[in-house]
Amino acid sequence: GTAGPILSVNAAIMARDVTKAFGQGETALKALDNVSCEIRTGEFFTLLGPSGCGKTTLLRLIAGFEMPTAGQILIDGQDVTGQPPNRRAVNTVFQSYALFPHLSVAENVGFGLKMQGRPRAEIAATVREMLALVKLEALAGRRTGQLSGGQQQRVALARALAPRPKVLLLDEPLSALDLKLRKEMQVELKRLQTETGITFVFVTHDQEEALTMSDRIAVMSAGKIQQIGVPREIYTAPVNRFVADFIGETNFIPATAVPGGAKLADGTVLPAEGEGSLLIIRPEQLRLLPAAADGALPATVESVVYFGTDTHVHLALEDGTKLTARVPSPADGHSGHAPGQRIGLGFAPGAARLIR
Ligand code: ATP
Repeated sequence: GTAGPILSVNAAIMARDVTKAFGQGETALKALDNVSCEIRTGEFFTLLGPSGCGKTTLLRLIAGFEMPTAGQILIDGQDVTGQPPNRRAVNTVFQSYALFPHLSVAENVGFGLKMQGRPRAEIAATVREMLALVKLEALAGRRTGQLSGGQQQRVALARALAPRPKVLLLDEPLSALDLKLRKEMQVELKRLQTETGITFVFVTHDQEEALTMSDRIAVMSAGKIQQIGVPREIYTAPVNRFVADFIGETNFIPATAVPGGAKLADGTVLPAEGEGSLLIIRPEQLRLLPAAADGALPATVESVVYFGTDTHVHLALEDGTKLTARVPSPADGHSGHAPGQRIGLGFAPGAARLIR
């Protein structure tokens, strides 16, 4: 019989125990440290993490621009570790777009197909289809040097999609755009992925972008994958302090695990899932109640910051632990809270979670 692990039927890409070191000996830096992950066919998969965590390195290993120091890359079940980029069924969209400024939009989009020696009529038809997909038909004849950032971004996408790769690798493709255009392109990109069914591997350091666009997210830090999950899992059930802190805002309260929950410094026991000695709770899951409310944790308001849609109330527990509550702002904008006020703190059911 054959040795080795059995591959999932629908894995488009697998990284298996991948390590990538730059430099030699003492000064070697492990950009990736024994990373394994499986990206499924047709999914929008995001590599998320702070600058320097190894996201781009993993993407470049999948593309074939870098070779791993150890481990394997598999595409559609085939070991492609030693193969050059042009032998892999993946295409890359870079942050810089890398368009040819002296060529027209249509020529840029058709470039890869022309290199493959496809018939002229087929190229023309595909270019038309791709330009319709990214809504750029009207600009087909324009030189790309004369386009806005958002338009260039679309041309780069259309060009990468034209050869119909099985997998599209995208390295922070929206980071050069201003906030409004970036939000529009997030919606467009997600639509394109759904319509084409192409597997997307998307790199970003923006947690909101990752949460809103992805089917699944791999959260990375210091060359390691910390957690892989659907956006809701990553946000509501982070596996460790790094993930809880990096994704959204979190309150941390020292606690000890007791049967059925977590015991705080003052002896209060809250229902909580998970294991460990740190209780995490999101600011929007805290409830501000009257000081005398039944079962509420005594707290003092330290400051109140108005954010428009909601108001952030900074609080201190009796042992000095600092927390932030986020409450919807009332119609007149006045939350009714003020520094020095004594209140009771309540917790939404299921909101508290223990981590290590
Ligand atoms: P960013 O969001 O800033 O692009 P990243 O998560 O994509 O960060 P990588 O570009 O993968 O991070 O880099 C991971 C680590 O490897 C960094 O410490 C980086 O300095 C280092 N590194 C990357 N490429 C090389 C290289 N060619 N030579 C030496 N070190 C490198």
